Amino acid sequence: MIWLRSIIYYLTLALLALSVGAIWGAAAGWALACVLLALSVLFHLHNLGRLHRWTQQPRVDNVPASFLLWQDVFDRLYAQVRLQKKSQDKLTNTLERFTSAGEALPDGVIVLDEHDRIEWCNRTAMQHLSIDRTTDVWQVLTHIVRHPSLREYLRTQDFAHPLILRTTRPAERVLSVQLVPFDSTRKLLLSRDITRLDRVQTVHRDFIANVSHELRTPLTVVSGFAETLMDMPEMDAATRTQQLGLMVEQTQRMQRLVDDLLTLSRLENGQQLKEEEVDVPQLMRLLQAEAEGLSQGRHRVAVAQLATTRLIGNHDELHSALSNLVSNAIRYTPAGGGITLSWLVEDGQPVFAVSDTGIGISPEHIPRLTERFYRVDRSRSRTTGGTGLGLAIVKHILQRHQAELAIDSKPGTGSRFAVRFPAHRLLPD
Ligand code: ADP
Repeated sequence: MIWLRSIIYYLTLALLALSVGAIWGAAAGWALACVLLALSVLFHLHNLGRLHRWTQQPRVDNVPASFLLWQDVFDRLYAQVRLQKKSQDKLTNTLERFTSAGEALPDGVIVLDEHDRIEWCNRTAMQHLSIDRTTDVWQVLTHIVRHPSLREYLRTQDFAHPLILRTTRPAERVLSVQLVPFDSTRKLLLSRDITRLDRVQTVHRDFIANVSHELRTPLTVVSGFAETLMDMPEMDAATRTQQLGLMVEQTQRMQRLVDDLLTLSRLENGQQLKEEEVDVPQLMRLLQAEAEGLSQGRHRVAVAQLATTRLIGNHDELHSALSNLVSNAIRYTPAGGGITLSWLVEDGQPVFAVSDTGIGISPEHIPRLTERFYRVDRSRSRTTGGTGLGLAIVKHILQRHQAELAIDSKPGTGSRFAVRFPAHRLLPD
């Protein structure tokens, strides 16, 4: 205890002065007492000064050292400061860990105070909402992100559901924004980029609308004819046969659509490609025979530049993709035109191509041809038995074979659809 040690210290000084006084007289004793007291005061003042200086730069490594009573004081001070430094380091470490975890989150995080001012935000939030951390901290969020729906969301204080925010700056994005209050005053604003999900949902909605639309027309025709047949039992045989023929045609159209939809769905299920050795000349003969069958003598069908190659791929899928291209060439080429099939090896890569002298395609349509149900001329596609899914199926199959489709076309002159396979699919002859 410091006070006990102080008493002992001063009693020792007094005892020393008394002893000197007893031996050399009272004057000598008082003189010694005065000197000792003066030295004590100087000692205290000196250490007090050092302590004062230390408080101006209080660090662990510059705590002063001394002796006697002050040694005890400085030792305790050192122990305290060290302990404090340790817990401060620990706190800083924890804070840094939380900050890096916040930074690493794939979602945007903004900490808002009670007045909706930005206290902190991570990098993702900066990118999502175009916030500049160096200038925008302590600014009201809605002054930085000027979006009426966000202002309304914060105003209504109903945070049960996320807000869907469509941003144009810094990029066109769809964000799902959710506010989570986390203590009595502060809130977390979480933002998630759902652009892709939103796109997928739109594609899904469009797809269902398209399928319904495609099925509605033949269904209306079939049910219309069926009702007529029921209402007019005395209909003459020729009209009856004609109407039944039209009904069969429409049912076949629905059948083709359902078949194509099933093919697409099978391909999209992403089952692994069953690879085998495909005999290309045999496949080309099959395609030529099918083309001639479809054309029924209305076109010149030729096979040119047939390199005898073998390919690694799936025979049935490749047959389905290439015959789609061949059937399109026939369907979009008026009678009297020509269709040429070719199989060559260019720069070590096998290339299948089908050229026609048909109606051709304007350049603005070309990038969209492989979209489901995209047609340049809807009625021509329908009258020739098209479903609008052929090239979408082709695209999927080619992707599974890492092949690329190149379309060259000129309206009124003709088209060339070329499929370029990667070199590793080619087997040496
Ligand atoms: P469809 O069943 O309508 O033929 P596809 O997906 O096979 O559907 O083709 C999409 C569209 O691409 C067609 O509707 C047609 O407008 C165009 N197209 C495809 N191949 C050709 C071609 N060889 N010549 C002209 N247009 C073509």
